[in-house]
Amino acid sequence: MKTYSVGVIGATGMVGQRFISLLEGHPWFQIKLLAASARSAGKPYGEAAAGRWAMPGPMPETVRDLVIMDAAADAGKIAAEVDFVFCAVDMPKDQTRELEERYAKLECPVISNNSANRSAPDVPMIIPEINSAHSGVIPYQRKRLGTKRGFIAVKSNCSIQSYVPALHPLWDLGIRNVLVCTYQAISGAGKTFETWPEMADNVVPFISGEEEKSEREPMKVWGELRDGAIVEARDLNITAQCIRVPVSDGHMAAVFAGFERMIPLDEIKKRWADFQSEAQRLNLPSAPKRFLHYFEEENRPQVRLDRDLEKGMAVSVGRLRPDTQYDIKFVSISHNTVRGAAGGGILMAELLCAQGYL
Ligand code: NAP
Repeated sequence: MKTYSVGVIGATGMVGQRFISLLEGHPWFQIKLLAASARSAGKPYGEAAAGRWAMPGPMPETVRDLVIMDAAADAGKIAAEVDFVFCAVDMPKDQTRELEERYAKLECPVISNNSANRSAPDVPMIIPEINSAHSGVIPYQRKRLGTKRGFIAVKSNCSIQSYVPALHPLWDLGIRNVLVCTYQAISGAGKTFETWPEMADNVVPFISGEEEKSEREPMKVWGELRDGAIVEARDLNITAQCIRVPVSDGHMAAVFAGFERMIPLDEIKKRWADFQSEAQRLNLPSAPKRFLHYFEEENRPQVRLDRDLEKGMAVSVGRLRPDTQYDIKFVSISHNTVRGAAGGGILMAELLCAQGYL
């Protein structure tokens, strides 16, 4: 397999740090450069990220001396030096959209964790185990942008990564309505307990924009590629409440779902246990051996015990039982900055390499 030179834009942030730690020793992708805002540009990474490094392991030696580039001012230079970039920046949406499109037009593909381009019908939002064929929209996007290589592909919001995977193997039962409450970690806001001490011993019932994304984005993931666009699924209704809880990493979802046709609970568990996808068939380096793990213990999955399952790339499910108002209810969790952000972005890039788009 060819190796690729990659850049990380937003390298000093929570997701950027996760990219750096997950890409250490990656068999296909080598970090060639790092970029962030003008505030960090010109400093060695070790200095710019000093006191901000929030990953469990130490900062990799390979990035410590890399001098951070300015994502906007150095765009031309960055695009010329790498095969593609991972992008996770905290900027106003219109500026993020512009920045990502600029890189794509410089013929540098962008694997994005930002929400700015998620609703564009010709930008694929890929969870490799669910909708790997949505990459088929890339040639249409290239036509719109006037590019040969450049394009944008996006990762979904981290909240939906905790419950959409568990619902996906049940799709053919006709999912009618879903009620979901998510309990989301503080790293999802780019924070730690040091930088957000008010979250200790606290629960906050609001995460800006999160409920809209949690209700809307699954429709695109379950959408269909038709006439050069991803047409969103229409036949189901999702309602969500998203709550911030005092947990460092890992989002939990409590899910209630109603179907047109029901099957016994044991068969649902079997579908979860047997689920395999393109990511496993292609043996992508970051793909979990098993995407969905069901726990029979009534007090599992737990965030601290189970978020790191399969290096944080698996989704854990438990407490499946009948419901009196919907058909079933269950809980599920995923690691928000691994599977829900950087790890999911890396897996998507591996898929796009295997499919010949990168
Ligand atoms: P964060 O910790 O606040 O980091 C933000 C990054 O953006 C920093 O590297 C910052 O660089 C950079 N940045 C800010 N303004 C910039 C500018 N004008 N030009 C270039 N870079 C700029 O945020 P985060 O949690 O990593 O989130 C980043 C993105 O990923 C957001 O769009 C977020 O919604 C998305 N996301 C996050 C998660 C999660 O679990 N955290 C999950 C899914 C998606 P400086 O250090 O130089 O300011």
